[in-house]
Amino acid sequence: FKSSALHQMSRTRKGAHPQPQTTEQPPPPPKDNGPIEVLVFGSINMDYITYLNELPKPGETLQAMYREQCFGGKGANQCMAAAKLGANCALIAKLGQDDLGSIYYEYLQQMGINTDYVEQLEGVETGIAQINVDDNAENTIVVLPGANQRLNSKDVSAAKKLFKTAKVLLCQLETNHKAVLCALKLFKGVSILNAAPAMKDMPPELIQAASILCVNEVEAAQLTDREDIKTLQDAKAAAGELLEKGAQSVIITMGALGAVHLSQSDPKYCIHCPAAPVRYLADTSGAGDAFLGSLAYHILRFPNLNPESHIYAANICAAYSVGHRGTQPSFPGSEIAQDDLC
Ligand code: ADP
Repeated sequence: FKSSALHQMSRTRKGAHPQPQTTEQPPPPPKDNGPIEVLVFGSINMDYITYLNELPKPGETLQAMYREQCFGGKGANQCMAAAKLGANCALIAKLGQDDLGSIYYEYLQQMGINTDYVEQLEGVETGIAQINVDDNAENTIVVLPGANQRLNSKDVSAAKKLFKTAKVLLCQLETNHKAVLCALKLFKGVSILNAAPAMKDMPPELIQAASILCVNEVEAAQLTDREDIKTLQDAKAAAGELLEKGAQSVIITMGALGAVHLSQSDPKYCIHCPAAPVRYLADTSGAGDAFLGSLAYHILRFPNLNPESHIYAANICAAYSVGHRGTQPSFPGSEIAQDDLC
């Protein structure tokens, strides 16, 4: 990370651009890419990723090979995945008014994300995630939410004009659940709820609120009180149960098995989209976020294609991500979307 004059800047108002306290110039304003197409209401974390041979067991101390500091958080990741493919994205989120928050804010702007509703809060720390990745690219993640906990329903009202104009909304559950519900209820376009991290006894209102409920197999098992979901049959049964609880349509991602989809429009017809091949498995962290950002992008750009095509495209982008190291750096750019979807 580069250390810059940002450390000397302060932001106190929502949407205010950094105000330099020295003679240094503020960073350039975000480029105007036209109306916002994908709106993301969610979390921002700085990820500390430790690479080690195997994941530690309780009470065990292990030596890591190396460590990286990366931009993360499910909200920001999914936003970045859609933006890298070419969508015009805005993020509604909270950062701390600390060094990490300032670095992250500037980075979002540099990447062309609309930050009008990314607020740095005084006296609160930017969210942090401690991630361990082992030789098999499996991971464990511990999150310290910090400023993310302060994202609330008032932030939905404040960004009302974006809710009216955006075409696709992406939400997750790393922030206040009532605020997420409020965002989903206000939005009239295609809304996607990534119910992660999963909550036990998720309120039916939340299950029903999004056009698409998307979870991985672990989260789907938690939501349907199963010990685990290992097979496509298990996933289909769990998706059916979520439809019975009122979900409009359900996607369950299954890692190397791809994803299954079930919808109220034809609840007997379960689609399985196999995962795209990966030559070298580098790092699975962020695969789900790559999938979700790509899903949003392809729904936006190809609204007349069927869900199978959208999921097929999302699988390709997610496979690209697991073939590359890191989270956001592993997401593909626009060249992949053009070549592979249609
Ligand atoms: P999460 O990252 O939330 O745990 P998954 O592990 O289900 O989510 O992965 C999300 C998507 O990433 C999958 O649906 C698939 O498209 C892709 N993916 C994950 N692991 C692999 C893999 N080993 N090979 C190919 N694609 C993968």
